[in-house]
Amino acid sequence: MQLKVSPLGTIEVVLPKNINAKHVPLFVAEHQHWIEQTQKQMAALYPPEELLPGSLNFAATNQQWQLKYCEGKRARVAEINNSLTVYSQDDNGAQKALQQWLNRRADETLIPWLHNVSNELKLTFKRAIVRAQKTRWGSCSSNGTISINRALLFMPPETVRYLFIHELCHTKEMNHSPRYWAFVESHMPGYQQHEQILSKGIRLIPRWALIT
Ligand SMILES: [Zn+2]
Repeated sequence: MQLKVSPLGTIEVVLPKNINAKHVPLFVAEHQHWIEQTQKQMAALYPPEELLPGSLNFAATNQQWQLKYCEGKRARVAEINNSLTVYSQDDNGAQKALQQWLNRRADETLIPWLHNVSNELKLTFKRAIVRAQKTRWGSCSSNGTISINRALLFMPPETVRYLFIHELCHTKEMNHSPRYWAFVESHMPGYQQHEQILSKGIRLIPRWALIT
């Protein structure tokens, strides 16, 4: 059996096929101490009041929303103009619906944007994926796959553009040599300020958006 504690502190028990569910209460009781410790860690890492935010601001696209939370059988997010209504049965469901909504928005926004910059610079890549990551803004693999962090939605648009240029330049230079940086500079003079924004940027991202 496997125990998981969500950022909201709820517990999930994963049962292997051959294990009877009647063993769950004892299993949970035996791990009570671990559960409580992990719940405390989660609460410190993800303050509960920040997990279901009241408002949302994408600096990248200059979009703002007010959020409302309502009871609903099926977890989903409904968007009308500048308001989002999150329907769910409980807080955990609301958190999941919000995560999925963010993933979808990141896909719809960042991937076409990366394609535009790629066309403009005539630097091509094979595939792009958007991921939830805590420590990296992006990466480019030797087979031409560019990964981008969905949290870029919370960064200023010029900084997002820089990150795209950074990764696209890696399709020609798979390193951070002086030649690579000169290549970046040729596409974006003054790129260093965006490196600085990104290096501090994780702190500007709402906690709930860093859950992976
Ligand atoms: Zn790099």
